[in-house]
Amino acid sequence: MKFVVDEMLGRSARWLRLLGCEVKYFKASDDKYLEIAEKEDRILLTRDLELFHRAKSRGLEAFYVEGEDEAEKLANISRRFNIKLEINTLVSRCPKCNSIIKRVGKVVVLNNVPKRAFEHYDEFWLCLGCGKIYWQGGHWKKINETLARAQELLKTKMS
Ligand SMILES: [Zn+2]
Repeated sequence: MKFVVDEMLGRSARWLRLLGCEVKYFKASDDKYLEIAEKEDRILLTRDLELFHRAKSRGLEAFYVEGEDEAEKLANISRRFNIKLEINTLVSRCPKCNSIIKRVGKVVVLNNVPKRAFEHYDEFWLCLGCGKIYWQGGHWKKINETLARAQELLKTKMS
């Protein structure tokens, strides 16, 4: 599923990439967002009601994203597009640049991650686009907490 998101949804863009979606995110004019959505057949996600209506009137697929925090926004997007709120690193994309990430051996990252990370973790992923290296470090707990909250919201609102 391919998206283009407006500049107010930068954090959601990174989340969706982590969940495996192909997401274009950049600062641009409303006209540019509409053009990209149309040309590249992308779904527009926006927090801007006027932009949403403009997209709809041009026959583009668009979704007006409501939610107070990231978990609520994620739950709403997930409900609308049936996106699994689980991270599968086989399909995850780089949150920073949207490229494919690939599992790499420890030896590959030896000189490119902090010593502590190298000692404590065995799984590393390399972004084939920007070269950033990922591991499931301390922030991973927070990521899972946000996902768990989003899953909870999804359940309660559906029943
Ligand atoms: Zn990257």
